Amino acid sequence: MTVKKPKIVVLGAGYGGLVTVTRLQKALSVDEANIVLVNKNDYHYETTWLHEASAGTMHHDRVRYDVDAVINRSKVEFIRAEVQDIKPEEKKVILNTGEVDYDYLVVALGGESETFGIEGLKEHAFTISNVNTSRQLRDHIEFQFATYANEEEKKEERLTFVVGGAGFTGIEFLGELANRVPELCKEYDIDYSKVRIYCVEAAPMVLPGFDPELVKYAVAQLEKKGVEFKIGTPIKGATAEGIIVAKGEDETEEIKAGTVVWAAGVRGSSIIEKSGIENMRARVKVNPDLRAPGHDDIFVLGDCSLIINEEINRPYPPTAQIAMQQGETVARNLVKLVKGETELETFTPHLKGTVCSLGDDDAIGVVFDKKLTGTKASFMKKMIDNRALFMIGGPSLVLKKGKFNIL
Ligand code: FAD
Ligand code: NAD
Repeated sequence: MTVKKPKIVVLGAGYGGLVTVTRLQKALSVDEANIVLVNKNDYHYETTWLHEASAGTMHHDRVRYDVDAVINRSKVEFIRAEVQDIKPEEKKVILNTGEVDYDYLVVALGGESETFGIEGLKEHAFTISNVNTSRQLRDHIEFQFATYANEEEKKEERLTFVVGGAGFTGIEFLGELANRVPELCKEYDIDYSKVRIYCVEAAPMVLPGFDPELVKYAVAQLEKKGVEFKIGTPIKGATAEGIIVAKGEDETEEIKAGTVVWAAGVRGSSIIEKSGIENMRARVKVNPDLRAPGHDDIFVLGDCSLIINEEINRPYPPTAQIAMQQGETVARNLVKLVKGETELETFTPHLKGTVCSLGDDDAIGVVFDKKLTGTKASFMKKMIDNRALFMIGGPSLVLKKGKFNIL
């Protein structure tokens, strides 16, 4: 009697999905399991570098690489398709190109921008979510400068940029934008003083919850480059002309801007909500072994998962750091299941720190409990970026895509 090989289907070739697949292809032989990877594109992109592609300080081709560069096609079947739904009862996934069934499923579809139902954002604001959104935002920024230079009746608001949210994404994008704007001014013969860059944050501080001394440094550095902060100012809406913000208790104010970037939070994938798997804002509060409650054949990781930091009884912020560590645990747990073991490993994040870039040559961070600013922090950020490449594609990927403009 022949025993049927289990089919493992991994959805998403981001940080979590690729770490899972690269570990599985090493640990399992073709006789032990069929491994299938499904992704919308035939490339992986470094989500953590998208602020650079969005501002135009890095070409979008630098932030992506072919999935084929890291998967072993003799062991992994790659399906380029868009996931449309998951049917847990039927153990199958609906794709735009057909269907795929599974014995074990790994959901690593990443996150989506969270607009909290704020009116006009979907229609009028840009987001920093993937290669396509980044390319569009970069082109739009350049279009504003080119159009301003050409139009007879100058629209000053064309050169006003609003970034909604002073979380890590907002601040990292502002760092890049503040470096890009002087280049654009020079290229299009525009006086730098015409440009306004606002950062609008609802909370009473920039980077809420981060080290106040480092935040002070970041704000001062960005202000020096012309960024104006409006903190304690929730965005209430977006229009074709700009944004509406709360002013005091009952009033609102309009800020006219040709470019609005919404960087005020992420949620899980809408596919999770559609699938009927229990979730909170499209994130699955996973069991300690990273399986979805009630679904022993479905693992969920990265931005689609929710795990609680017991020390403060609050969810861990979704990060690439955690997604990659989860990928390693998911792969080990799948190997156990394939080999017939039932005791699975429990996931515990090992956080090494957080570094927030402020452009190519500056950053702030806490690494192994040590505070860093300036070039030291910037060096560390590049090392972290290179480490992510190393974890998925080894030294050859670091050589091909790594950041070596270190100082
Ligand atoms: P992702 O890496 O986002 O991958 C999801 C994959 O699924 C993508 O390949 C996508 O194309 C694919 N996909 C999505 N939907 C579908 C579908 N329907 N069908 C098929 N394929 C689909 N975290 C850090 O730890 N450090 C940082 O420095 C850092 N910097 C960041 C900077 C920016 C600008 C942003 C936006 C985020 C940053 N983060 C950082 C957060 C980090 O990027 C995310 O937490 C991480 O990418 C989540 O990994 P993931 O594997 O869940 O999803
Ligand atoms: P976030 O949730 O961390 O920050 C969003 C910010 O937007 C918050 O400060 C919030 O107060 C603000 N906000 C929410 N509603 C608003 C409104 N109506 N008006 C104005 N401001 C509003 O989101 P993010 O910055 O996109 O980060 C997403 C995840 O990615 C986080 O887990 C973060 O840690 C991670 N990330 C990490 C890095 C890094 O480590 N360098 C960089 C980018 C993102």
